[in-house]
Amino acid sequence: CGIVGYTGPRRAVDIVVEGLRRLEYRGYDSAGIAVVDGGKIAVEKKAGKLANLTSVLADPGSALGSTDASTAIGHTRWATHGGPTDRNAHPHLSADGSVSVIHNGIIENFAVLRAELEDRGVEFRSDTDTETAAHLIAEAYWSLDGQNYGHTSTDETTGRLAEAMRIVCRRLEGAFTLLAVHRDVPGVVVGARRNSPMVAGRGQGENFLASDVSAFIEYTRDAVELGQDQVAEVTADGIVVTDFAGGAAEVRDYHVDWDV
Ligand code: GLU
Repeated sequence: CGIVGYTGPRRAVDIVVEGLRRLEYRGYDSAGIAVVDGGKIAVEKKAGKLANLTSVLADPGSALGSTDASTAIGHTRWATHGGPTDRNAHPHLSADGSVSVIHNGIIENFAVLRAELEDRGVEFRSDTDTETAAHLIAEAYWSLDGQNYGHTSTDETTGRLAEAMRIVCRRLEGAFTLLAVHRDVPGVVVGARRNSPMVAGRGQGENFLASDVSAFIEYTRDAVELGQDQVAEVTADGIVVTDFAGGAAEVRDYHVDWDV
């Protein structure tokens, strides 16, 4: 199972698929990818090998086949909650389609969260624990409308998705590497981790998030090790890391000088 996120000048679909290929050794049963493009999020996901996903992407009918979007997230799944089907494959979308999420790990308290969301009328489209996070992040994002969330951000237009992620992470129990994108902030990928691995890669005018450095080593060997309970907001220009409360976090930059 693995995760990859990219934002920068290259064709994000290609970078993310290549990253997923590099993470295949970790094992998986399904694969999927989401891009933020023209104020919308487009998703393709398939049970089975990565080749199943890439043949869908190669189909001229695929929304992702012709996109040159600069921001994407991709996932290989090892099913824990819900069988290994197309429907349960990640990425998952919020009910309003504004947020897409990928996740490795287990959200232990998902049943309580799901019941709460269903009480509010949210309809679930999968059997996964992960889908709760997509709906919660979308709700948290809307709840921040007009509020001051920009203080830890790279600029005023970003920060809001990171703050939504922090709000949600404070409610989650278990183990997770979570990546989220929002249709309103096309150049932003936000990642969070607890009891599950995540590293960031610093490129020039492009940045990466992944389960491990092998996903982006072709593009950069400058990595940032993210600590327990940290959130990283990644844009083409920078990586801003905080703890779950929003305080600036200490991170370790390192250079990967070994062969992966
Ligand atoms: N618990 C999630 C699921 O079953 C994520 C599994 C994983 O780590 O890939 O969909």
